[in-house]
Amino acid sequence: MNILVTGAAGYIGSHTCARLIARGHHVLGVDSLYRGHLAAAQILKKLGQDNFNFVRADIADRFVIESLLSEHRFDAVMHFAALTYVGESIDSPMNYYRQNVTAMNTLLDAIDRVNVQNFVFSSSCATYGQPPESLIPIPESCPQEPLSPYGRTKLAGEWMMRDLAESRRRADRPFAYAALRYFNVAGCALDGSLGEDHTPETHLIPVILQAALGQRESIQIFGTDYPTPDGTCIRDYVHVDDLADAHIAALESLKPGDTKAFNLGIGEGVSVRQVIDAAKRVTGVDFKVIEHPRRAGDPARLFSDSSLLKQELGWSPRITSIDDTVKSAWNWFKSHPNGYRS
Ligand code: NAD
Repeated sequence: MNILVTGAAGYIGSHTCARLIARGHHVLGVDSLYRGHLAAAQILKKLGQDNFNFVRADIADRFVIESLLSEHRFDAVMHFAALTYVGESIDSPMNYYRQNVTAMNTLLDAIDRVNVQNFVFSSSCATYGQPPESLIPIPESCPQEPLSPYGRTKLAGEWMMRDLAESRRRADRPFAYAALRYFNVAGCALDGSLGEDHTPETHLIPVILQAALGQRESIQIFGTDYPTPDGTCIRDYVHVDDLADAHIAALESLKPGDTKAFNLGIGEGVSVRQVIDAAKRVTGVDFKVIEHPRRAGDPARLFSDSSLLKQELGWSPRITSIDDTVKSAWNWFKSHPNGYRS
């Protein structure tokens, strides 16, 4: 297939491009490089040769996006480009609505004009907010009641796709989409080619590995009195290569007019303390850990019921141990202590 990937120079977009190329798809990656890395696009170019090209562009730029979409006949668009921090979205909500909703609206509008038929969207478990304990593991039918502007922008993305699909169904121009609601994405490419390099870095595993590298003095645990076996919060860490493969499975399964949503996690919870212990085992470094009181708004347990994805797409994660996920990240962090600038 001929596929446009937005956010291609970011963490998840770049890993998915690598898997798409390996599977023989032709990819045009687009990224504004606001938070992405030209180096990641250059690595993809080496991996993909003629099957990968990259354009630096902002998807909010209607003229550029419409030109790209009408010049190339894309079978599908995979949309990763977004701002991704819950805390930042609370401080700058209008920026999040502009980047994640207005820009996506521009993209979908252009897609509609040129009649692209398939779309895969990075949604988030943040669209569920804080589900009741009775709905954990979280199924797709869990009410979507996001607690942050970030979560609301992702939910708005799902609404836009749904409404576009409905209007196209009525016009007999079917539009199919899959919304993948990720849990915590982690790890780095198993072949060592690509990594995780966010600024600022807020994700638990990279932050821990920065402590193991001596770039941070300590690791902080927020809350040790949650009703969980070791008192710390439990999350679902899905390896980025497995996540990328789920995108490909979702895309390749789409039939005209499909409107699908899947939870994307491994379906098991791992506590903050278990991640820290795994990192100490993998790195061999006994970094300092400081315990703090709970932060407001952190649910005790969030993990996915991924049975729909497994049943419908035949997807199952290759990496299910937190040690293996951390190991893949450590391999990249050790060789890239300054991220893509290394
Ligand atoms: P990232 O910041 O590494 O990648 C996002 C990329 O999008 C960046 O390279 C950035 O430059 C680009 N971008 C942003 N706005 C753009 C625009 N207007 N035009 C063109 N490019 C633009 O983030 P990530 O962790 O790879 O996340 C990718 C997607 O996955 C996001 O949509 C995010 O909301 C979603 N997601 C991520 C996680 C996670 O754990 N990392 C969890 C749930 C959902």
